[in-house]
Amino acid sequence: MRYAETGFDLEIDLNIGDIERVETDPVDTELYLGGLGTNAKLIWDRVPPEIDAFSPDNLLIFSAGLLCGTPATGCNRTIISTLSPQTRLMAFSMMGGFWAPELKYAGYDRVILRGKSPQLIYIYINNDSVEIRDARHLSGRGAIETGELIREELKEPNVQVAAIGLAGENRVYFASIEQGRSSASRAGVGAVMGDKGVKAIAVRGTKDTHIARPTEFMQLCDDVLKYIQFRNENPVKWVPPILQGIGTAPELAVHDEQWHTTNFAWGNARLRRKDFWTEEVANAWRETMESMRKRLVSCYNCPMRCGGTIQPPGLPTYMMKCYSKLTYTMASMTDLDYGFRIAQRATEYGVDAFSAPQAMALAVELHEAGILTDQEMAGMPSDNREKFLWLLDRIVRREGIGDVLANGTYWAAQQIGKGAEAYAHNNIKKHEQLPLKLGMLNPIYFLMYSTGEKINITQIEGQFPQAPFPTRENREEFVKDWFQVPDEKFKQYFLDWELRGENSMPFYPTVEMCCDIVDWQERMHYIDDALGMCAGLSSFVLKPPYHIHNYPKFISAGAGIEMDEAKLTEATKRYRTLVRANNIRRGMRRKDEKPPQDHWKKRFPELEEKLLDTYYAYKGWNKEGIPTKETLHALGLDYVAKDFLERGILTDDEGTPSKETSAEKEPK
Ligand code: SF4
Repeated sequence: MRYAETGFDLEIDLNIGDIERVETDPVDTELYLGGLGTNAKLIWDRVPPEIDAFSPDNLLIFSAGLLCGTPATGCNRTIISTLSPQTRLMAFSMMGGFWAPELKYAGYDRVILRGKSPQLIYIYINNDSVEIRDARHLSGRGAIETGELIREELKEPNVQVAAIGLAGENRVYFASIEQGRSSASRAGVGAVMGDKGVKAIAVRGTKDTHIARPTEFMQLCDDVLKYIQFRNENPVKWVPPILQGIGTAPELAVHDEQWHTTNFAWGNARLRRKDFWTEEVANAWRETMESMRKRLVSCYNCPMRCGGTIQPPGLPTYMMKCYSKLTYTMASMTDLDYGFRIAQRATEYGVDAFSAPQAMALAVELHEAGILTDQEMAGMPSDNREKFLWLLDRIVRREGIGDVLANGTYWAAQQIGKGAEAYAHNNIKKHEQLPLKLGMLNPIYFLMYSTGEKINITQIEGQFPQAPFPTRENREEFVKDWFQVPDEKFKQYFLDWELRGENSMPFYPTVEMCCDIVDWQERMHYIDDALGMCAGLSSFVLKPPYHIHNYPKFISAGAGIEMDEAKLTEATKRYRTLVRANNIRRGMRRKDEKPPQDHWKKRFPELEEKLLDTYYAYKGWNKEGIPTKETLHALGLDYVAKDFLERGILTDDEGTPSKETSAEKEPK
């Protein structure tokens, strides 16, 4: 008997329409857990670096996390892995909602797509029945609209649909996969789905999942629910409202946007507007929120209600994700009303709400600078609101300049040339990041930005406060009930962290402390991503209900895999290293691991080098960021070491010859 997982994958060869139900090896679950961990192994085994994102041999994997489908509160993530057309590295984008538990109930842990369908299709999974269906009539339809049409067509209102919009069909590099209440947006997973000719995957499942020790598991779930209630009643003090609670930032419930609008850059990450948030703006935005937001909604089995259904007058209702609330507004320098309207269209098109606004704002800035000519922008309206809608339409159709912008700001700037590269100043590893331009180097964030492979800083940070609290008394009160720390030393790190003086940034936390903090934060995210847990109840928030002390119990009682903190830490390190190994094999090196040059005004090159050197050594990587033979051996990854040696990535003395690699190639 397999517990928590079903023990079966659904493998579909789109070239020939072959569908196979494949039993998986339980040993792999012990080693890699599931979700992201197992995806990393599949990509390693079956997608060598000679393959690019739009090759038929690239895989597109939809994986339900190990504990999805169990009663664990908030455990509902689908982890989608493939090769990214934008970064040329392994992408792992994830979505909440209802899709992953439904897949488990249909009897599968993963759907693995390979090949390309000769015509647009959708896949309908209904327990043991799996069909490939014609989707030509859905071509050009919106992602959310597609879900509705499929539900009508199947006469099955409870089917869960993950679909792409026009952007995915046209292989826009930042195309998302949408499923109504959530989306997998980062790194172009929707473009790969479109390239494979798959418009949607519809799932309906009515089977049970099995729990190894149900009474113990339910007690753990009960403890989590009680703690959620406690945290909701006891917000964290001395942090901005957006960081006080749990959930994926209660963006759709919070009216006060001073923190985002004054700290994040507007336009194409161009300027800060420190005095933007006035009483007048606050009142106008409150009015918009209250008139357009119809209700707050949750993902599967979660009480947190992080999403909001939005109904702009005259437009269809849609579900807004927390992060898209401001990205369009701030990129186009407009207001919340406009942001809500354009986000409706962008959601139907299926684009990433971080990358799309930046790509559009890049075009506006390049035009203002004379780098993009009037001829290239012929037909663009002069009004800012109309301008961004016009650009969005052209990007998703790949028309004119839209065809260039559809490759993301990094590749678009390369293609445009004439100095455009300097305007694409918000990328790491060729991907748009949060539009932040700050003052003093933050050493913790330096490491997270540089070495993160999830391509989104908000999905790596979280456990440790972002900044010191004003007084020691505040900090003492904070650490009193901070039981989530993996080690008491973290409390001391925080207690001694001052706003000014010797123990302030950039030299405090010290380099060694930064390594500990970043490693802890990253570890928690990687655990979530294997188990399918929402980071909003775990790694992304301060003092969360799930943490390193109760996770092993959930895995033991739920999946029947005996687990303790040390074993869980080792398993996480194993698949985290495997994610890196996939990327190293595709050419990622130390030179790629750097935040945008203007991310902070005050930079400290010597300190930054030391941070990277020390963190690499801490992780068991060499000076180029490549896991060493010893590290790989200790984690049971000798097969990776063997491959690295054969490819000359590692040599017997672990020198690292440099050569052009797939991550460096021009877009196709
Ligand atoms: S915390 Fe929010 S985003 Fe996370 S599962 Fe619950 S409702 Fe969804």
